[in-house]
Parts: sequence; C-alpha cells; structure tokens
Amino acid sequence: MPLKKLVSVIVPAHNEEGNITVLTDHINEIFRNTPYVCELIFVDDGSEDNTLNEIKLNAQINSNVYYIELARNFGKDYALKAGISLAKGDAVITIDADMQHPPHLIKKMLNYWEDGFDIVYTYREEVNRHARFYQRFTSKLFYRVINALSDIKLENGIADYRLIDAKVVNQLRSLDEYEIFFRGIVKWVGYKQIGIPYTPAKRHAGTASYSFIKLLKFAIGNIMAFSARPLYIAAGIGLSLSALAILYFPYILISYMEGYAVPGWASIMATIDFFGGLQLALLSIIGVYVGKIFMQSKGRPNYIIRSTNLIHIKESSNINVN
Ligand code: UDP
Ligand code: MG
Repeated sequence: MPLKKLVSVIVPAHNEEGNITVLTDHINEIFRNTPYVCELIFVDDGSEDNTLNEIKLNAQINSNVYYIELARNFGKDYALKAGISLAKGDAVITIDADMQHPPHLIKKMLNYWEDGFDIVYTYREEVNRHARFYQRFTSKLFYRVINALSDIKLENGIADYRLIDAKVVNQLRSLDEYEIFFRGIVKWVGYKQIGIPYTPAKRHAGTASYSFIKLLKFAIGNIMAFSARPLYIAAGIGLSLSALAILYFPYILISYMEGYAVPGWASIMATIDFFGGLQLALLSIIGVYVGKIFMQSKGRPNYIIRSTNLIHIKESSNINVN
C-alpha cells in the first residue's frame, strides 16, 4: 500500500473554547477513509478562556491533535506563521476555529492540489450576511485601497482559508518580515493558484476577536507592508504644491510693485495653515515607514511559543514541552 500523504490543518484560536471540539470532529470526519493522514494543529493565540484545555482534552482523545501555546496574543497572522512553521504536512490547510469556513471544502481543495495546484485559496462568494454593516463597508474599502496602492491584486473577500503545498510553505517559512499579512504574501509568492468561492457560515460559538480599531490598524499596517506608494504620493503632493507656490510668486511681486500688498493677513494665515497641515501629514506617512524600519531592524521573532505537544520540536531546549 502506498504511504498516505500527510496534510496539516492549522487553526489559529483566540478565545474559542466552544468551537474546538466541534471543529476537531468535523475535520476528522472529513479525513476518515481518505488517502491522507491529518495532523490537526491548534495555535492558542493567548486565549483568556478555556481554549487551551479544550485542545488538550481533544488531544487526549485524538492522537492527531496538537497544540502550540503562544506566550501571549500575537494576532492571527502570527499564530498562522507559528503553525505553518511547525507543520510537517505535504500540504498545509489553514482554517478559522469558529466554523465560519465550511470544512467540507477541504475535499475540493485536496482535489485541486492533486490536480497540480500549489495554492488553493477561498473568497467569500456573497456579501457576508452575518457581518455588521460597517464591517462590510470597511472590508470593501480595504480591498479597493490595497489593490490601488500595491502591486498585488486581492479578490474581494479573500479569506485565510486555504491549502498550501509544502514547497510554498518552505518559502513562507523563510520570510523574515516583522509584519506579516498572509493574504497578501500568499498572492505575492505566485506559484499555481486557484480560488474557490465559499459562503461564510455563522460563527459557531463565542464572539469575533476583531474590533473596529484593531481592523483599522490591521488595514493600514497591511497596506503599508505591501507598498511604498504612499511615500511617492506624499512626495508628489509636496512637489506639485511647491510648483503652485512658485507660480504664485509673480503675483506677489507685482502686488508689491503696484503698492497694494498690505491687506494680506487672511491669505497668509490660510497658506500657513494649509502647508503646515500638509507637511505634518506627509511627514507622518514617512514617520510610519521609518517606524517600521525600526521595528524590522530589531529582528524580534514573530511569535514566542510557551508550550507545545508537537514531538519534533521537543529537542528544542528553550521551549517548555509537556
Ligand atoms: N484569532 C487569533 N488571534 C487573534 C484574533 C483572532 O488567532 O488575535 C483567530 C480566531 O480565533 C479565529 C480566526 O482568527 O479562529 C478569525 O477570527 P474572528 O472570527 O474573530 O474574525 P473574523 O471572522 O471576523 O475574521
Ligand atoms: Mg470568524
């Protein structure tokens, strides 16, 4: 009998205690009687509830369930990177813990993979009926802005639910970026990709972890991680306004020579206000990029593992394994 292929399923989980068992059962059901072995790796991203214990309970019952406990809440993309870095599968599938990503699509992904695709990603087929209005609006805006400002093209509603072949996973592991945005990176690496649509389900238990402010920071961070174009825009605006100011000089000169230059207080104030504000705004764009260089230059790890039951990293001495 030929050796079964190993598929790693990575699940980032932040306060998902009510979803771990349901998802485990669904995933294991899907891999029953298939030519694949599944290792199910939960990455506990600093949960404050019973998530980690739930995972450990499931690991006692199912020998294919593993956990990686991060030292604190690092954010979903970093939890994904932790999982991807330790996964050993011939393919890696990432899926949300809350059952919003329909697990039955895994079969379809595996079929495309067998057909030779390296990345099978998913995107939301229709407007997410379960999302709040501002979420739908900001989500659309985010994709529009990132597509306009960077060289990668992201489909509307592209999700962190995807299959990645081991050779691409190797590339992703070797990326050494302070800020990770998987949806962008996975497009950026290229390879043979195919997208399949899905209709998001309702969250099984608990509440979504992302607040509006968190999403806004996420959006701005990701746009800047993928593009230096805002810097060029800043420079462009600066130069155009300087050109306009130069065009204004003859007028000032003539006014002076004609002797009616005094009543100019309002226009001077307006100009100072305008250029002062503009300079501050443009400087702050540059400042944000400099800040990012600063963070990257520290070379801090993307995540820290507190404990795990993954056998192949037990040798690594600085991680507490129980
Ligand atoms: N998540 C995480 N760390 C975080 C926030 C979220 O690992 O800081 C996980 C969460 O447990 C879930 C997935 O990321 O499995 C998607 O999060 P959520 O459902 O809150 O967001 P949404 O469905 O709105 O994208
Ligand atoms: Mg969700």
